[in-house]
Amino acid sequence: MYKAIIIPIDLANPELGKKMLGLAREIGGKQCHISALYVIPDIPGYVAVELPSGLQQEQLRQARADLKALADEFGADSEVHAGHAPTKILEYAEKINADLIVIASHRPGLQDYFLGSTAARVVRHANCAVLVDR
Ligand code: ADP
Repeated sequence: MYKAIIIPIDLANPELGKKMLGLAREIGGKQCHISALYVIPDIPGYVAVELPSGLQQEQLRQARADLKALADEFGADSEVHAGHAPTKILEYAEKINADLIVIASHRPGLQDYFLGSTAARVVRHANCAVLVDR
């Protein structure tokens, strides 16, 4: 039924990412195209100039490698973008014409709110179906 599923994954919580990738594969079956997406927060310019040279490049390289290792297990693609997480998730969903986004409701340990801030924005603004995993 679903042909293109996006799984936004916060690499601070890889176990949650695995759970959602497994869920997506179950829902979409073997033929479904699954993309794991991690968004690296932008560092303001005035902070970036103070960082050791090459640090941001190294972080990007590491994030790409970590996400790919996770995604490969489930036959999924991996994408690392930089910026504001909900905006980038929604932009990428439009770009690949995703028909489902599977997102966790929260970072683990922050269950007091109904939905986390990233998840809430994605649910409100997505043009495709969104499955919120709690
Ligand atoms: P909270 O506000 O409780 O931390 P969030 O809404 O930020 O909750 O996180 C919920 C889910 O949103 C995460 O489990 C993940 O699926 C997605 N998410 C959050 N941050 C990112 C990010 N930087 N890149 C990709 N996905 C993210």
